Amino acid sequence: MIQIQAIPAFQDNYIWLLSEDSSQHCLVVDPGDASVVEETLAKLDLELTGILVTHHHWDHTNGIKALTKNRNIPVYGPDNAEIDGITHPLNETDTLTVLHTEFEIFKTPGHTLDHIVYYSCPEQGDPILFCGDTLFSAGCGRLFEGTAEQMQRSFNKLRALPENTRVYCTHEYTLSNLAFAQAVEPENHSIRDYRNRVTQLRQQDRPSLPSTIELELTINPFMRTDQNSVITAVKEHAPHTALFSDAEVFGALRQWKDHFQ
Ligand SMILES: [Zn+2]
Repeated sequence: MIQIQAIPAFQDNYIWLLSEDSSQHCLVVDPGDASVVEETLAKLDLELTGILVTHHHWDHTNGIKALTKNRNIPVYGPDNAEIDGITHPLNETDTLTVLHTEFEIFKTPGHTLDHIVYYSCPEQGDPILFCGDTLFSAGCGRLFEGTAEQMQRSFNKLRALPENTRVYCTHEYTLSNLAFAQAVEPENHSIRDYRNRVTQLRQQDRPSLPSTIELELTINPFMRTDQNSVITAVKEHAPHTALFSDAEVFGALRQWKDHFQ
């Protein structure tokens, strides 16, 4: 059975480490920093047998070169020639099997145009999602390259996943995202309760992740752009913006978050 643990990197990144009971083999997702990965491999006596990448940003890719220098291992990632070191470019509906676990690929443009996510529904345990910088707990990635419409379509793919899917995002942004979520939906008691819980976790220096799709559907305003409470709040915040479609609500919400302090 697959095991997943966080390797903290930089200020607030998590490099997710996948391993299994039956071997010393492991993979990492979005290794922005090779040194923290090497330290963990040595400490846990694991052998790196592959790398998964979600998008081209440096804090997800900078470790690839060093980690593959003396290892002949597959590097799975977006079909984007600008990312050095990808050996297996992936597209929508592609699948791959690592550590006896099959993953499906969804393209999720918005944060970047090349963004992909990795989803698995293993025989044992809950489904798993590695979503990079597309979906964050209680938030979503900034729209650096794509449009709100693209990101909203990407979110619709994630909203459709089973509610018990465990959501592994790349950044620990949950507390600041919850402050915004609470400003959007002050009456949503699930947001208030979860903010208290995450505050405690972070005081103990514990990750707030993984989340679940079920939780995100309850507390994440970007997963809730079809809810009247969110639509009303966005309309009050941006009274002169056209807000007829889900994508327009999503875009106005993202702009609000961009300027929220
Ligand atoms: Zn990014």
